Amino acid sequence: MTPNARDEGRIKGEACERLIAPQASPMKFEASYINIAMFAYLHTAGAYGIYLAISEAKWATILLAFILHEAAIVGTTAGAHRLWAHRTYKATFPLQIILMLLQSFACQYSIFHWARDHRLHHKFSDTDGDPHNSTRGFFFSHIGWLLVKKHPEAKKRMRRIDVSDLKENKLLMFQKKYSTAFIGTMSFIVPTLIPMYFWNETFASAWHLTILRIIISHHVTFLVNSAAHAFGNKPYDRYISPSQSISVSLATLGEGYHNYHHVFPWDYRAAELGNNVVNFTTLFIDFFAWLGWAYDLKTVGNDVIAKRVERTGDGTNLWGWGDKDMPKAHEEIAKVLSKV
Ligand SMILES: [Zn+2]
Ligand SMILES: [Zn+2]
Repeated sequence: MTPNARDEGRIKGEACERLIAPQASPMKFEASYINIAMFAYLHTAGAYGIYLAISEAKWATILLAFILHEAAIVGTTAGAHRLWAHRTYKATFPLQIILMLLQSFACQYSIFHWARDHRLHHKFSDTDGDPHNSTRGFFFSHIGWLLVKKHPEAKKRMRRIDVSDLKENKLLMFQKKYSTAFIGTMSFIVPTLIPMYFWNETFASAWHLTILRIIISHHVTFLVNSAAHAFGNKPYDRYISPSQSISVSLATLGEGYHNYHHVFPWDYRAAELGNNVVNFTTLFIDFFAWLGWAYDLKTVGNDVIAKRVERTGDGTNLWGWGDKDMPKAHEEIAKVLSKV
């Protein structure tokens, strides 16, 4: 049994078969035709968007798509993920509004749905209870899970995930209630109208670059579920699939330190040395903490991390490259940090 498997079967009130990762029972895939049609269109239109970006789109339209892409990633990482799914810090109402608006650019369902699925992922990682069970392979954990109906185990266990805090949040309930209209407007309509109105962009370029931006944001986020559960080293827990991936961290503004994150999911930094340039999300939260809009930031003590590294780590270094003297390097870093 792996250390993390001990909690797999504990569900409040009801007996549920314990699922021990990695696990995937034979599954009859039931197609989700709406999602298949949607992703087929998004990919085709996105490919046309690449052509238009090269051939005729204005620079301002490309720049706007890039800015909205990064904004959507921050809304997802600092908002849906670290604030609402894991409650790693608290945010004032104005910051919550900012994060909700940014997340709405991402077209990744409402924050309520996102956070609920993500809690399910952490509770039943790499088993049938995990909506994007990486035991079924790279494609399934990346996008395949969205093209089929949820596994019955995931559906069953999803109903028992505690989401009372999300339901109490009026802002999240507003976004959930009007999700189709609100997220549709923020993801597709506003980003298409801005270039057409302000710099006379054509509808074809404005629309298809919007689609291209959305599909890139999707794939970048999906990498955390696929690549960061498949490749990379495991300095904190060698028994689980989540791994450290510097390239995924770069793309997702700091969410690729996935071995650390699964071991210490309540740490707002989602990494041991979170405040670095690759972890822009942490810098973003730090900035709002400085303003006083983010508070009660949770972290993990260096001694706790060091003990865990010694106990279950694979002996590799923090960031996913090179040296094999991880414990020694860790000691050095802990010393430096204790002096700051
Ligand atoms: Zn994960
Ligand atoms: Zn998480």
